[in-house]
Amino acid sequence: MERTLIIIKPDAVQKGAVGKILDRFIQEGFEIKALKMFRFTEEQAKQFYIVHRERPFYKELVEFMTSGPVVAAVLEGEDAIQRVREIIGPTDSEEARRVAPDTIRAKYGTDKGQNAIHASDSKESASYEIPFIFSALEQI
Ligand code: UDP
Ligand code: MG
Repeated sequence: MERTLIIIKPDAVQKGAVGKILDRFIQEGFEIKALKMFRFTEEQAKQFYIVHRERPFYKELVEFMTSGPVVAAVLEGEDAIQRVREIIGPTDSEEARRVAPDTIRAKYGTDKGQNAIHASDSKESASYEIPFIFSALEQI
């Protein structure tokens, strides 16, 4: 079994899509091992996305992720990191609607920036991101 982190981003929370998105992962066979709603401070969002600090979209990404509440969850399942990435779809929601219309980003995102959901992209990122968001006591 493997664990991965998802964060339902401010755009999807604002749209009222939290329940539908969590239900999709439950239907796909994942178990929710931790769950909470919170709002990132600027410092926290910068640190969470520190690998992107040199990218041109870093400032815009931090602004977006601090623009409203998010809902984070730890999901557990076989091959969870890769399978969850497949279910969320490509980074750009417009591309997702063309090539992968059944994905979460296709259904609930807008474009390359406002794309509804984050998911860990590797074992390395999951092992940074899960304890960044959830303490041991918050995970079952
Ligand atoms: N992003 C953006 N502009 C871009 C690329 C990415 O605003 O040109 C944002 C988008 O919200 C994305 C996040 O930065 O989800 C992290 O980018 P990454 O390349 O890691 O995409 P992901 O792993 O989320 O698919
Ligand atoms: Mg990424």
